This record gives sequence, C-alpha cells and structure tokens, in this order.
Amino acid sequence: MKKKPLIIILIFLAIIIYIIIPKNRKQKSIIKESKKSKKIAKKAIPPLKVIKSKVKRGENITEIFVKNGLDRRSVINLIEGIKGVYNLAKIRAGNTYKLYYRNKSLKKFVYYLDINKYLEVKIDKDSYYAKIVTIPYKTQNELIKVKIESSLFEAILKENEKPELADILASLYDYDVDFNRDLRVGDILIALIEKKYLKGKFVKYGNILASSFINNGTRIDIIRYKRKNGTYGYFHPDGRAVKKMFLKSPLPFMRVTSRFGWRRHPILGFSARHNGVDLGAPVGTRVRATASGTIISKGYDRIRGRYLIIRHSNGYRTHYYHLSGYASGIRRGKKVSQGQIIAFTGNTGRSTGPHLHYGVQKYGRYINPLTLKSPSLKPLPKSEIPAFKEYSKKILRVFNEIIVFNLNKNEIKEEIPDKLKSLNIHIL
Ligand SMILES: [Zn+2]
Repeated sequence: MKKKPLIIILIFLAIIIYIIIPKNRKQKSIIKESKKSKKIAKKAIPPLKVIKSKVKRGENITEIFVKNGLDRRSVINLIEGIKGVYNLAKIRAGNTYKLYYRNKSLKKFVYYLDINKYLEVKIDKDSYYAKIVTIPYKTQNELIKVKIESSLFEAILKENEKPELADILASLYDYDVDFNRDLRVGDILIALIEKKYLKGKFVKYGNILASSFINNGTRIDIIRYKRKNGTYGYFHPDGRAVKKMFLKSPLPFMRVTSRFGWRRHPILGFSARHNGVDLGAPVGTRVRATASGTIISKGYDRIRGRYLIIRHSNGYRTHYYHLSGYASGIRRGKKVSQGQIIAFTGNTGRSTGPHLHYGVQKYGRYINPLTLKSPSLKPLPKSEIPAFKEYSKKILRVFNEIIVFNLNKNEIKEEIPDKLKSLNIHIL
C-alpha cells in the first residue's frame, strides 16, 4: 500500500519533466536564434570604406566629388547645405580629405582645415550635417639636438624621432641650405618643436618654434614669431624673413642614409661656359621651381635633352635640363609657384649620368646658382624688430648654452626647461 503513492508521484514527476524540458529547450533555442540574428544584423551593416587623398593644385570641390562618384546635383546640394558651417569653395591644394562610403554611397566627408581642425559632413540621403571638429591634441614643446655623423635622416632616427622630422627641418632651411649637398660631418642642428599627442601617443609634429643650424662652421638661426597683425612668420635674428625669392636647390631633400648621398656626383661645377651646376640625382627625382614665374620654354634637343625654362621677376630666368619627364599641366605660358613640382630628373640629351643641370640667368647673363644672393621677401616691419630681437635673444641664449657646453639629451632636459619658462615656452 505504501508503494502506490510513490509510483503516482514518480509518474507525475515524469510528466512534469516531460512537459518542462522540451519547453526549456525551445526557449534556449529561441534565445540562441535571436543572438544569431543580432550577429547577422551587425554583419548586415558593412564597414565604411575610406578613400584618403589630398586636394591637388587647381582642383575644386566639385571635381573632387564628381571624380569620386557623386553627381553634380548632389554636389551643389551638399555645398549649399553646409555653407553656414564652411564654404567648400575655399579648400586649399595640399590639404587632406577623406571620403567614407557604405554600399558605394557616400556617407561622410572629412576635410582637414589645418593640423588641429577638420570639417566633418555626415550625409544621409539628401541631408547634410556639418560641423568643425577640433582635434583634442596635447601639444608639447620639445628640444631636439642632432649631430650629423652620416646623414640628416640617420641623425634624426638616432634621436628616436620620426623620418618626417628630417623633411620638416630640411624645408625650414630650404632657402639657405641644400641638405642634399651642403651637409658636413659634425654639423649640429637644434630645434624647439611642437609635438602633438593624442591620448598620450605621439601623432605628429607641429610648428618649429626656433632652430639653430651650424653647417660647415656657419650658423643659421631661425625664429618663428607672431607679427602684430596676428600672422606668424619665420625670421632670422636681425628681422630678415627666412623666405627668399629663390630656393637654394631645385631638388627637394632626399632621404638618403649613405654619408654623402648624391652630392658626390656633380659632373661639372659652375663655369660661365657651362652655364649652371649639375646636381646628381636618381632618375625620376622631383624637380621644383626655385622661384615663382612663368614657363617660357619647354622642349627637347640633343644637348639639353628634355628641358624647361622659367621666367621670374627682376630679370631672372631658371633653366632645368636632361629631364625624364614633366609634371602634369606643365606647358609653355603656365604660371608656376615656388616649390611647385615641375618635372622629374633624367639623363636625356648630352648627359653622362643621371643628373639635373640647373642654370640661373639675370638679364641674360649666367650667374652661379650656388652663390646666388637671393633677395629676402617681406621682412619684419621695422617697428616690430626691437620686440622680436628681445624675444629671439632669449631663445638663442639658451641655444648657445647647448652648443657651447655641448649638452647631451639628458643635460638639456635637466638644465634648459626653466630657462624657457620666462618666455612661456615650456618643454618636456
Ligand atoms: Zn650641366
């Protein structure tokens, strides 16, 4: 008699278990499925595809958008739609932009206004949402000292700096020094430079605030200074502008690691008969216009090979021979600006090796490009020179100390920061 209720209970339990378990299983599988569908939903939104580029010379915003698949009507709507935030007619050559696509349709456009700010345009069908975003960089001023043992490039890497610092420094001295040819072992370069960090990580270099370069015994000091009108410029300690009518060399700084790079290869120096200097360079090296002007001659003959001649103000002309090719858009009558890439070096015409023949004429007479006294442009106004001299003296006094006592990295960190604080320049 005692066993009966037990059996009933067991059967009852069995029924309950039978009912509950499948339900449970079902529920679990439903949960699993909904998790799966969420995963699928996430996968259904493909990641944004990014195209990054730079505004080319002479290119306008319509061309950029049309080139990247937008129809003209949408471009006009976009430009008009965001005019209150930014006028896209003002975009500048050399600035970076990014286009973000999803399923081949443009979702976002980003244009960098300067190193600290960018314009962001979000695109939703025919609606445009624009804003200007300030990148929250932390800027730190740092003092860098490099000693040239083989090349500038190597010296920079030795200090654990990024390769682009070599380009930045070379272009700062572009009017005074040809970094491909003029560097000497033992040269010293000091620079006070802004470094930009994001979340503690180095992102990029900012402005150079001051620099001293001792090149083959000659010292060149450069100071960045804010003019009374609010704009910044680079000046030598006497108030002369760093910017001059001519670049020192038509060839940009080349990142070579060998001791003398290509400077050991000049085929002929300047002589009145030779009409210029020969600058050794690998075929295809970019050639820059050393001064702004107009292309007056472009052609080919058996002696000069492919050549270009530019007419400048004050009776100057520059000649570029033995080229392998020209930059796009380069033709007779075309205006070019200083530093613009006009051609590529080669070995055409009567040439015994890859090089650029570079000549300078003044009122028809050939002059030596290496010793050309290039006029400075836009000096600091006389009324601003006393304050500028006061400011630059303080910085240079600190630089002098580094040079005279040959301070190393650690000594600079220990001894220098306080001395620049009075100038509101704080360094690491
Ligand atoms: Zn030559």
